[in-house]
Parts: sequence; C-alpha cells; structure tokens
Amino acid sequence: MSMTTNSIFLNEDHLAVREQTLRFIDDFVRPDGAQWEEAGMVPREVLQKMGAIGFFGLRVPERLGGVGYGPLTSAVFAEALGSSTYSGFAATVLVHTDMASPHLLHAGTEEQIARYLPRILTGETITAIAVTEADAGSDVAGMRSSAKRDGDGWRLNGSKMFITNGVHGNLIFVAARTNPQASGHQGITMFILEPGMDGFSVGRKLDKHGWRSSDTAELIFDDVWVPAENILGEVDKGFYAIMENFQNERLVLAALAVGEAQEALDLTYDHTQNRTAFGATLFDKQTIRHRLAMLQGRVDALRTFAYDTAWRFEQGQEVVKPVSELKALAGELVNDVMYTCQQFHGGMGYMTESPIERMYRDARIGAIGGGATEIMLEEVAKRSYRQ
Ligand SMILES: Cc1cc2nc3c(=O)[nH]c(=O)nc-3n(C[C@H](O)[C@H](O)[C@H](O)COP(=O)(O)OP(=O)(O)OC[C@H]3O[C@@H](n4cnc5c(N)ncnc54)[C@H](O)[C@@H]3O)c2cc1C
Repeated sequence: MSMTTNSIFLNEDHLAVREQTLRFIDDFVRPDGAQWEEAGMVPREVLQKMGAIGFFGLRVPERLGGVGYGPLTSAVFAEALGSSTYSGFAATVLVHTDMASPHLLHAGTEEQIARYLPRILTGETITAIAVTEADAGSDVAGMRSSAKRDGDGWRLNGSKMFITNGVHGNLIFVAARTNPQASGHQGITMFILEPGMDGFSVGRKLDKHGWRSSDTAELIFDDVWVPAENILGEVDKGFYAIMENFQNERLVLAALAVGEAQEALDLTYDHTQNRTAFGATLFDKQTIRHRLAMLQGRVDALRTFAYDTAWRFEQGQEVVKPVSELKALAGELVNDVMYTCQQFHGGMGYMTESPIERMYRDARIGAIGGGATEIMLEEVAKRSYRQ
C-alpha cells in the first residue's frame, strides 16, 4: 500500500502503529482472509494474537494497561486495516476497539472496568454495540427496546438488528428505552449483556452483501433480567453517550475507507500497467490514467482531511461538522473508486477470485453504516447556516 510517511500530522508512534498493523496483515490476514470470508467470522485465536501484540489497547489509558493514544492513532490503524482487502476483518476489529469498547471506558464504573477490560485487551472478550433496531436505524431516538425496573435490576425486552460481533462477541452494550414517558432523546439507558443471560439470544446470523468475514446478528431480549450493576453510565442518559462516541466511530469508518480506496487504486495501477490491449498497456490510455489520477487526487485530499479532523479531535475541538463531512465524502468516494477500479479490471474484476470484486462489495456499507451519507449531510447542513 502506498501511504504518506511525511505527513505533518504523523509522528514516529503513528508510523510504528501503521507498520505493525501492515505486518500483521501480511502475516495473518492475507494468507487466511478468504477462509474467514467463507466461514463468516474471524477466528478468535487471530483476534487474541492482535490482543497479545497490543492492538486492543491503543486507545486505553496507560494506567489501565493500554498505551493511551488518541483519535489520530485510531485513524492510522483503521486506514492500515483498510488496505488488507478484507474489510469484514477490519470491521470485526474496529467495532471492538473503536465503536463498542470505548463505551465501557467512557461510562464504566471502576468495578466494571476492572471486571471487563483485561479480557477486552487480550481479545478473550470481543465487544459489540447494539443500538440499531429493525424500525430504528438512522433515527436512533426511535428505538423501542425497553427496560423496566424489577427489584434490584431491570427487565429488558425487544430486539436489535445488524449488530456486528453480535454472534461471536461476548460482551454486548445494549441501548434500551428506560423511560417511556420521556420523549425522543431522553430516557435511553445502556446495559451490559453477556451471552448466556436468561432470555438473551441471537435471533439470526444475517447473510450480507459484503463484510462477509464479520458476523452480523439480530439479537433478541425476552424478559432478560439485568442486574443494576450492569447499567453502563447514567440511567436515561444513554443517547448522549451514543452520540458522543459516534464521532470516533465515524472518523474511523472514514479512515478505513481511505485505506480501502488507496489499496484499490494501487491494485488497479498494477493491473493497468501489466494488461495490454490494442498494442499498449491499459495505463498507456490517457483516459484510463487520467481517471485514476483524479481519483488519486481525491483520495489524497480525503486522507489529509481525515488526519486534520483526527488531530482536531485529539486537541479537544468540536468536530461534529468536519467528522460528518469526512464520513459523507469518504463513504461516497470509496464507492466511486471501487466502481472505476473494478471497471478497469474488466471481466477479471467480476470474478470472486479477484480482490477488487470483494472490495467493491465491502465498500458499499461505507455510505450506509455508522451514519448514512444523507444523515451526515443533515449534520453538516444544520451547522452550515449563518444564524
Ligand atoms: C453490515 C452492517 C453492520 C452494522 N453494525 C452495526 C452495529 O454493530 N451496531 C449497531 O447498532 N448498528 C449497526 N448497523 C446499523 C447501521 O448503522 C444502520 O444500518 C444505519 O445507521 C442506517 O440505518 P437503517 O439501516 O435503519 O436505514 P434507515 O434509517 O431506514 O435509512 C434508509 C435510507 O434513508 C435515508 N434517510 C433516513 N433518514 C433520512 C432523513 N431524515 N433525510 C434523508 N434521508 C434519510 C438514510 O440515509 C438511508 O439512505 C450495521 C449495519 C450494517 C449493514
């Protein structure tokens, strides 16, 4: 993968994380990724290997056993994972590191952190975040799963949809409505669930267009009794915790898209330089190299924007607008790149043995998941009017 090494934003630590991630991909992901796609999951031993190297503690403070890096490191990590050509693997990892486990770090009590974090760091525990429901995705506040107080705990009922790591994950942070009178954003609480709790089950393992090595579940809660000690954060304030972590989640998804797009362009440069038609290579055709060059320019611009946004985030600046712009641009651009790169691979690009075929499918979620493009544009538009 061709990556910037002399960006003003990146220091030696960032480059070391990138280097280590790329090495892990070469050693363990590229050789076996196709089998994981078939199996619909990433083996736990592979995730535990990542844990042993320290990948799951990148954002965890040193006093808790991690290395305490910031959002820029997450962006570099996600970009590198995006180059693997197996984004189902990348999704499995990034949901654990940057979308689910941060909820425990931000809202967990000392006891909860002491109880769960050590195994999260080693990869013995893989986390999931369950917010979306069949009838409420973009409209998070429309969720209907609910929990009622019952003795020293809560009774949880309802279901969740499209939950990454929902089948094989073993610590699930679930959002449910705890105050039916409260409107919209109020009255949502996060709960910590573990497989095996009475009434908690995987309804279906969902079959998907792309990200096939990532497991995706429908989760069912049928009168699950959740002890009060499993409340994560403040009762009725869960919506705000979800929104807060969305910025990190969207930044990481955008950086993943940058890595995917660059890898697709690199594969397509190689292909067009080796493939001949009408007496010259495909790359010799000006129309082809110009279209690739334009996409390369857009990817380079997006990468710089991603690093800049991550840096601002790290400085504690308000980033909802740039993160939303970035996520919208990245989700659309990665699809433009995949379309053109598959096109220039010709018939071979349509074959499942060709990485670009998988990458084309994997990229589609970039404009849908973790805040669809239209929702991102709403966030931007709301913040763009002069008052
Ligand atoms: C593979 C995969 C993995 C996922 N993993 C997780 C996970 O781990 N945890 C989790 O909680 N969720 C997860 N999701 C859910 C994902 O975040 C949602 O699918 C996404 O937010 C979109 O919600 P929706 O599917 O309900 O679509 P909808 O909300 O029904 O949207 C459908 C379309 O309508 C558009 N739209 C909606 N509202 C508006 C509006 N106001 N103005 C204009 N357009 C609008 C949307 O942009 C979209 O294009 C996952 C989804 C997938 C596919």
